[in-house]
Amino acid sequence: MPKCWKCEATMSWRQCIGLYHRIDCLACGTRNYLSSKAQWNIGTPYFIILILQMVLRPWLDISFISGLIFIVLFAVFTHLVIQPFLLEYKEDKQYLIDGFN
Ligand SMILES: [Zn+2]
Repeated sequence: MPKCWKCEATMSWRQCIGLYHRIDCLACGTRNYLSSKAQWNIGTPYFIILILQMVLRPWLDISFISGLIFIVLFAVFTHLVIQPFLLEYKEDKQYLIDGFN
């Protein structure tokens, strides 16, 4: 689970699956912003799944609906189970593009 950048208090799972882009620390009240690195870690798997589906569809013979259901299940699973471990917080608001710096 991610920690507050200031007081290092651990955030709860509930906080991580809510409005996770901006979390107020429950211990010290400090505002935590999602780091650009964490934004990439969360976003990249979705791109990979989407591209894989597009590329593999002709061979896998899956319908659009089953593909969609798979993506939704993947998103729910990632959001609830994996995402809390990918989160990382910083003092300032960060954007995806900051990851290139
Ligand atoms: Zn704190």
